[in-house]
Amino acid sequence: MEPKHYPPKHMGSMMGPVHLSAFENALKQFNAAAKVMNLSDNQIAMIKEPRRVIEVKLPVRMDDQRIEVFKGYRVQHNIARGPAKGGIRFHPDVNVDEVKALAFWMTYKCAVVNIPMGGGKGGVVVDPTKLSRGELERLARRYMAEMMDVLGPDRDVPAPDVNTGPMIMGWMMDTFSMHHGGDYIPSVITGKPLEIGGSLGRDQATAQGMVFTVREAAKKLKINLKGATVAIQGYGNAGSNAALLLQEGGCKIIAISDVGGAFYNKKDEGIDPVKACEHVKQNGTLAGFEKTGAVKRYDDPMKLLEEPCDILIPAALENQITVDNAPRIHPKIIAECANGPCTFEADQILTENNVFIIPDILCNAGGVTVSYLEWVQNRMGYYWTAEKVREDLERIMDAAFDDVYETSLTHNVNMRIAAFIVAIDRVAKASEIRGLYA
Ligand code: NAD
Repeated sequence: MEPKHYPPKHMGSMMGPVHLSAFENALKQFNAAAKVMNLSDNQIAMIKEPRRVIEVKLPVRMDDQRIEVFKGYRVQHNIARGPAKGGIRFHPDVNVDEVKALAFWMTYKCAVVNIPMGGGKGGVVVDPTKLSRGELERLARRYMAEMMDVLGPDRDVPAPDVNTGPMIMGWMMDTFSMHHGGDYIPSVITGKPLEIGGSLGRDQATAQGMVFTVREAAKKLKINLKGATVAIQGYGNAGSNAALLLQEGGCKIIAISDVGGAFYNKKDEGIDPVKACEHVKQNGTLAGFEKTGAVKRYDDPMKLLEEPCDILIPAALENQITVDNAPRIHPKIIAECANGPCTFEADQILTENNVFIIPDILCNAGGVTVSYLEWVQNRMGYYWTAEKVREDLERIMDAAFDDVYETSLTHNVNMRIAAFIVAIDRVAKASEIRGLYA
């Protein structure tokens, strides 16, 4: 029998489940934008509610020959602008409300960067660390088999999320292809291994997209990024790549943190992000990084958020900046790599204090954008260089930043409300043109 505890805990690139409070926050932001836009109640109802909610039971033969029945969901929130797009998470806390919330979020994230995709999300109620590799594979394949009719390159294109990664995407792609007469259909799912149609540049996509938005914000605010100081909360996929890319671009990383603690070095060159990555690789987290002598440790890791700096990057958890600490947080820019790191109320305090916030649905949309580029490459059957992927990501993120920035000026609102205005307008118009209000 294969060992249990598979996959390893860090297999998925995304953080643990987004709490509904973060989504409730997003709803408040949505409502604020809808108010500025004078949307009618009918229009709001049509673009708020999911189009389809699918629940399936997933019987799986376990290694000890028992049959265990898992519950799986897929929600397609809005498909007016293109096939639904959004990850599949495997987690014991998955529930239909959470999946609906995350699908809603995806609709507006895709719309703000203007990629031709709608919003979707999926999940299975399971603790994957308790499954063997074989059990996990049978579960992943069963999920795809049960969802066969609702997924597809022109319908709904899933991706990895919490506790799912390239390997699971590969199994799902294979199952979908097998059920279509053994054809090769990579465009049904993204986040696949490179060998079967994955895209170059995906690992760094979220951080790279964020860096493009920071660059544009710095231009508008006339901040020189050479020597600009940066503090980053979270040193996983998004946070560590953010540190590496920003340092490459001339910024000085002065504070970083993860679940192992928060660390700073404001002197000389600041923190070396490569050394920090090596430390995490060897030790699992940043814990003990101060013993290298290269950094000092904060007694209270939340103090990192209050560190005077040019750019603050929350790249860990939701609801980190609240009314309690917002008055003490004064960077020039907050780049929200994490989903929902600032509460709605904190946002207002920060805006009053002239902190320029690049909102999550714009700032961290690089990941879904490169997923879209993977789907495009799969459909063409022609694969791009990492450079070409990066160029397209840059073009898309820059255009999205400009759209949101111009809208914020036109309506005299902050970037977050502006991002929702841009996204809602695109979704509402597409729905209207297609007659989906009927
Ligand atoms: P990850 O699991 O790779 O890394 C998360 C990091 O946060 C880890 O370093 C972890 O130790 C740290 N962390 C956890 N609790 C913490 C705490 N209390 N204080 C400080 N650090 C803490 O996750 P990720 O993929 O980097 O995602 C980070 C955030 O970015 C999440 O909110 C996620 O939803 C969002 N995001 C990620 C992507 C992506 O493609 N990776 C895309 C969009 C949004």
